[in-house]
Amino acid sequence: MPRYDVAIVGGGAAGLMCAIEAGKRGRRVLVIERSGRIGKKILISGGGRCNFTNLHVTPENFISANPHFCKSALARYSPADFIAMVERHGIAYHEKERGQLFCDLSAKLIVKMLADECRQAGVRIEVDVNILKVERGAGGFELATDRGAEQAGALVVASGGLSIPKMGATGFGYELARQLGHGIVPTRAALVPLTFGDEETARYRDLSGIGLPVQTSCAGQSFKAPMLFTHRGLSGPAILQISSYWQPGEQLQVNLSPDRDAAQWLLERQQGRPGADLKTVLGELLPKRLAQRLCEIKFGNRPMRQYRVAELREIVAQLQSWRFSPDGTEGYRTAEVTAGGVDTGALSSATMESRRVAGLYFIGEVVDVTGHLGGFNFQWAWASGHAAGQAV
Ligand SMILES: Cc1cc2nc3c(=O)[nH]c(=O)nc-3n(C[C@H](O)[C@H](O)[C@H](O)COP(=O)(O)OP(=O)(O)OC[C@H]3O[C@@H](n4cnc5c(N)ncnc54)[C@H](O)[C@@H]3O)c2cc1C
Repeated sequence: MPRYDVAIVGGGAAGLMCAIEAGKRGRRVLVIERSGRIGKKILISGGGRCNFTNLHVTPENFISANPHFCKSALARYSPADFIAMVERHGIAYHEKERGQLFCDLSAKLIVKMLADECRQAGVRIEVDVNILKVERGAGGFELATDRGAEQAGALVVASGGLSIPKMGATGFGYELARQLGHGIVPTRAALVPLTFGDEETARYRDLSGIGLPVQTSCAGQSFKAPMLFTHRGLSGPAILQISSYWQPGEQLQVNLSPDRDAAQWLLERQQGRPGADLKTVLGELLPKRLAQRLCEIKFGNRPMRQYRVAELREIVAQLQSWRFSPDGTEGYRTAEVTAGGVDTGALSSATMESRRVAGLYFIGEVVDVTGHLGGFNFQWAWASGHAAGQAV
């Protein structure tokens, strides 16, 4: 008989939640973590305060080749369920904006909460362990590690995605999935800054640090949120969100003035301040240095009275529909998540169990389910971990 009912590969958000639920059901659970401590990504998340969930979770906040896959798990473990755990542990939190919940003090409290819950549920956690080989045996799974062999009846893969390799992210989960007959939806960096090509770099590089509210659009999706110029391209929430939908070669559209009727506003300014330069007037609508740069490269800079109405309308059209093709992304080095992953077609949406290999489960980021920015990725980790934890 195997020593453990369940071995969980990865002591991150999803793995720990699965361990807690399985342990509470009396299962003998082992968590195997490659790095020196559990929950490392939780610690750096949300600027160190962990945006642990979002009050407004819907399936539309997730990207997957099968948009229906996430529904069952999300419905059975809601933000309210996680909030109840947070409150039970006396962790103070607040809503920042748009339903995003953060710890008041530190993400460390979330890791401590999960570790305490694991302890109460009798879960064994081993850190600094390298898995050398996984094989399907008669009674379940046999794992060869650099600390010896382990056997478990069920194996849960919660090894996360490829983002932030310097924190130890690896393709382990994808390789194991392939080895055991699972398809992988091609992976790509998501929630990631976009980079400019040579022309845009030359034009905008020195605007690095300038931010403004915009609306980004691509592939039928759009997001209204702040955007930030960087020395290599664009970042900020509006860019990170749209990056998850952007594919190389596609154009991105950015509305630099999403919140007002800019045409009406500019025509009124022409009436009210006919002698003012265009760049001065646009500097009331946009950050001044951006307004100046756009005048230098696109609009010219004459007194307002010298622009025809049609010209002003064309300027506004360009401001509201700045189109360019990003050169690429900043890649996994800075991406918050990995889009794509283990194909959901061969997983049960109720339990996360493989339809190909009985007793094998995939949860969290390694699965082809990617959340929007704002606490959605952790909610998927909790919900998918909970679903598997109820089933193993
Ligand atoms: C900088 C940053 C900030 C973020 N902020 C937020 C936020 O505020 N809100 C939000 O919702 N999401 C946020 N995310 C995304 C979120 O962290 C992930 O979606 C989430 O951690 C995924 O959980 P997981 O358990 O699937 O994977 P992870 O949390 O990555 O855990 C996987 C674990 O498996 C371990 N592992 C990997 N390979 C092996 C192996 N071979 N053997 C044993 N162990 C292994 C890893 O060391 C790791 O501990 C952020 C991500 C980053 C990078």
